[in-house]
Amino acid sequence: MYVSADKTTCAVSSLCVYRVPEVFDQDEDGAVEVLEPHPRPELRDEVLRAVRGCPTRSIHVDEEPEAPSNGAGVAGPPSSRGA
Ligand code: SF4
Repeated sequence: MYVSADKTTCAVSSLCVYRVPEVFDQDEDGAVEVLEPHPRPELRDEVLRAVRGCPTRSIHVDEEPEAPSNGAGVAGPPSSRGA
């Protein structure tokens, strides 16, 4: 799970922050900030509730494998280029 949020559409309602403070916070202007883009699996349901509860649909979740954080890319299959 990868969580992102759009500050430009955030209505500063704080609902997501109250719901999942481990994942969401607010900047000095009150707009949403994602503290943890890859939340623990136990927080999954709460994050999805925050997505559904956001009045401006500013929170987005992608279902994807854990993104590497050390710069190491995910190796794909060897090239199968034929000549
Ligand atoms: S619930 Fe939506 S509108 Fe409210 S603070 Fe979070 S992202 Fe912004």
